Amino acid sequence: MTWARVFVLAALTAACFAQTPSTAKEVDAVYPEAHALYLDLHQHPELSGHEAQTAAKLASRLRGLGYEVTEHVGGTGIVAILKNGPGPTIMLRTELDALPVEEKTGLPYASKIRAKDDSGRDVPVMHACGHDLHMSALLGTATIMAHSESTWHGTLMLIGQPAEETISGAKKMIEDGLLTRFPKPDAGVALHVGNDLPAGTVGVAPGYSYASADSVRITIYGKGGHGAAPQNTIDPIVIAARTVLALQTIVSREVKPGDAAVVTVGYIQAGTKNNIIPDQAELGLTIRTYKPEIRKQILAAIARITKAEADAAGAQREPLIEQYESTNAVYSDPALAQRLRKTLETTLGKDNVVTAEPLMVSEDYAYFIEQGIPSFYFALGGADPRKYAEAKASGTKLPFNHSSRFAPDVDPALRTGITAETAVLRDLLNASASDLYKLTHQSRQ
Ligand SMILES: [Zn+2]
Ligand SMILES: [Zn+2]
Repeated sequence: MTWARVFVLAALTAACFAQTPSTAKEVDAVYPEAHALYLDLHQHPELSGHEAQTAAKLASRLRGLGYEVTEHVGGTGIVAILKNGPGPTIMLRTELDALPVEEKTGLPYASKIRAKDDSGRDVPVMHACGHDLHMSALLGTATIMAHSESTWHGTLMLIGQPAEETISGAKKMIEDGLLTRFPKPDAGVALHVGNDLPAGTVGVAPGYSYASADSVRITIYGKGGHGAAPQNTIDPIVIAARTVLALQTIVSREVKPGDAAVVTVGYIQAGTKNNIIPDQAELGLTIRTYKPEIRKQILAAIARITKAEADAAGAQREPLIEQYESTNAVYSDPALAQRLRKTLETTLGKDNVVTAEPLMVSEDYAYFIEQGIPSFYFALGGADPRKYAEAKASGTKLPFNHSSRFAPDVDPALRTGITAETAVLRDLLNASASDLYKLTHQSRQ
């Protein structure tokens, strides 16, 4: 066989695979079970780090499909592997957790669950971020992939990640050997449903999709005393007030215009009574950016300004600045995004694939990217198309993720999620590991 013939054959094979998009028929066949799982998960949400039943339900279904399933990876995490000959290893990730929110959607299958949170408080629980839809889509996709092994080759690795909402589960899975006990993925895929796109569509944002997040707690130390004798005190409330305003100059005066950044002071706590000047004040901040250098610049500016304001007021003790929760930005590999956008356009229709706006929200999928897994992270439309059009026309907003009224339009969104995931996985699994390496490394700046 000549090389020319090998090439022609390879091209034909590739074309043949490319023309095997997940058909509506394949999705129809798996939809009832995926939808049933959705209803079950939605009515039985579990808090971050406590997703035992959720993980068990997903694990048993994947095992039944022939996946080799490992449970309790980094807590309640699961890893399901399906090997299908030589080829790349491609990871698809879903989150498992729900939120302490009381559901007010009025849906017949609304959650009525309450549970104890980590501090022992009794709280309502709701899948207010759509992770139930992600899990159900993953099950539908897993079923199609297991039943169509002639359309792909390589290793499919599905993971159910706990505790995304507390930005801790991805890190725990990695620390528990996700990338050493199991094959290391050549590429990773994840999606997130939201009401900023109508159901039936997907959004692709090459490069930064989600921001980095840093939580910072600042304790300002003053000198307490009588409210009528300020001359004997160093008032930490006045220092805190000045600090809050001065911190707002970081984004407006120090960060280069055009570089996205947010500095929000979400709480100020100080004092007990109107005529007492307290000893200290506490500020809670969240910082969001995309670029690592801007993140560094902002964190340094916060420390500088906070210390300087305390110093200006004559505080005798330097403020305490503590960082306690953080994650990097989610970076969707541009070359992968370009390639997979075409695949999605072929599968869903050109009009149903839009360029998504990067958001300042955060999520810990970034940990997988940090470990050297080039990834494709895309947005799944969740809004009822009619309500979406009405909201757009009237200039209102539909309830966003984490709202007690967040209710994705399940039928089109779940079907689209399964269709999109299947198409993306087939595309990646029909590439070779070395092609994926070349593709994702040429796009690094
Ligand atoms: Zn969320
Ligand atoms: Zn989420």
